[in-house]
Amino acid sequence: MSGIGKGIATASIGRILKSKGFKVTAIKIDPYINVDAGTMNPVEHGEVFVTDDGIECDQDVGNYERFLDENIYTDNYMTTGRVYQAVINRERNLEYQGRCVEVVPDIPNEVIDTIKRAGKKVKADFVLIEIGGTVGEYQNMLFLEAARMLKLQHPKDVLFILVSYFPVPTIIGEMKTKPTQYAVRTLNSAGIQPDMILARSVLPLDEPRKRKVSNFCNVEKEDIISAPDVKSVYEVPINFEKENIGNRILKKFGLKPKQSNLKEWDDLVKMINDSPKPVEIGIVGKYFETGSFTLLDSYISVIEAVKHAAFAHNRKAKITWLSAEKYEKNPDELKELDSFAGIIVPGGFGNRGIEGKIKVIEYCRKNKKPFLGLCLGLQLSVIEFARNVCGYKDATSAEFKQKSKNIIIDVMPEQKVLLKEKKYGGTMRLGAYDCNLTEGTISSRAYGKKQISERHRHRYEVNNDYREALEKKGMLIAGLNPEKDLVEIIEVKGHPFFVASQFHPEFKSRPLNPHPLFREFIKAAIK
Ligand code: GLN
Repeated sequence: MSGIGKGIATASIGRILKSKGFKVTAIKIDPYINVDAGTMNPVEHGEVFVTDDGIECDQDVGNYERFLDENIYTDNYMTTGRVYQAVINRERNLEYQGRCVEVVPDIPNEVIDTIKRAGKKVKADFVLIEIGGTVGEYQNMLFLEAARMLKLQHPKDVLFILVSYFPVPTIIGEMKTKPTQYAVRTLNSAGIQPDMILARSVLPLDEPRKRKVSNFCNVEKEDIISAPDVKSVYEVPINFEKENIGNRILKKFGLKPKQSNLKEWDDLVKMINDSPKPVEIGIVGKYFETGSFTLLDSYISVIEAVKHAAFAHNRKAKITWLSAEKYEKNPDELKELDSFAGIIVPGGFGNRGIEGKIKVIEYCRKNKKPFLGLCLGLQLSVIEFARNVCGYKDATSAEFKQKSKNIIIDVMPEQKVLLKEKKYGGTMRLGAYDCNLTEGTISSRAYGKKQISERHRHRYEVNNDYREALEKKGMLIAGLNPEKDLVEIIEVKGHPFFVASQFHPEFKSRPLNPHPLFREFIKAAIK
């Protein structure tokens, strides 16, 4: 079922196989109709992750990139909508040469072709495929059918791993295996026999239960992997390896490890578990309140990037979620920002919470509080500066107000046409674009190079008509896109760390390779 860590499990197995000397890539299959995650509400679906080649996909793709330390591309993300769209386009282009195109086998065949393309693109030894949803539900049936057919076509090259939940009802305090027994039977009825079972639970799986599951589910005992909850997701590969999962997988393919190299990862986990000193970071957002729960999935890449940067300084990030709207109602609340070492204003869309975020930015600028703005965070930083330093009192963004004298953040001309035609899906400025850094800025020192490439997801931009006025008053344009002369990074002169980027640096941060802007932000915060 969803939420038990299939993504982290997939990513962790990938990391393990990579550590044994193999080239690995991973594919996420989401059974919903949406063509991509770009149009989904982040509170409901979590973060929209963006790849270098510009797909807006599920946050698990971010987990793959973070764990594998490899880039993931378009063919590594499938949804029902995406697959059907590809088949329908092919049919319209006469690629099926006039024959009747059918749900089975044409849809599963398209899935199989996509899997093969994804593997070929990066010359992978292993392609890990995560099929979302629950065994037995209607939505993922065609993907399971594709998996069955793939195994039939390549019997020696396909292995199935079932990630299953083992509840421990608090009333009896005993771990139950029955749901897994039923899951395997349901999977069997789809023509699939799992080769391994990952036992997700609050507790480790004990010997008697391993024996029982092995017996009832037709899986060797050594292939039932205990996967209890852990404090940090980065511990999962280490935990899996304790159960020898990597070599078990290789053995089934008749392979031997070429090397064994999880040491750096192991050292990182040891450092995390050593309870290092915290660094207190406040993140001001609006996509985390859902009913009586706080869900932080909408900001997962930001959270992980902060953690990675803290790890680099032997610290543990302690993140507090600050709701932007409360500063609008009660500006006195801004005082609480004093208790944080640094503040982040991340990406976002629409009017809600805007004025509260602008107040936070003003506070950080005036009180020399280390500040990092991401995408919308840059746009609001420029608006704040225009209003409070340059004197354009009505400064705003075309996203919030179409009629204002001073539209400091404007919609790009090509975007205007798309919005008018209601073409919202997959049409933002997406994926990697170059940025030239200005010498002598915090950003150029952080990266230690002149040109960088970073990932984008936005429709609005700094209006170049105001650049001179902003610069005159002490705003530094620290990064520019060379092709279109677009503002990519701003800083504030004389501030210890006030950096905001139009791109999303969080998408490129990796646990053993933290992003330079986050790394320097945390350094300033610690100082
Ligand atoms: N809403 C803004 C835009 O579309 C910022 C987007 C973001 O933060 N990702 O330009």
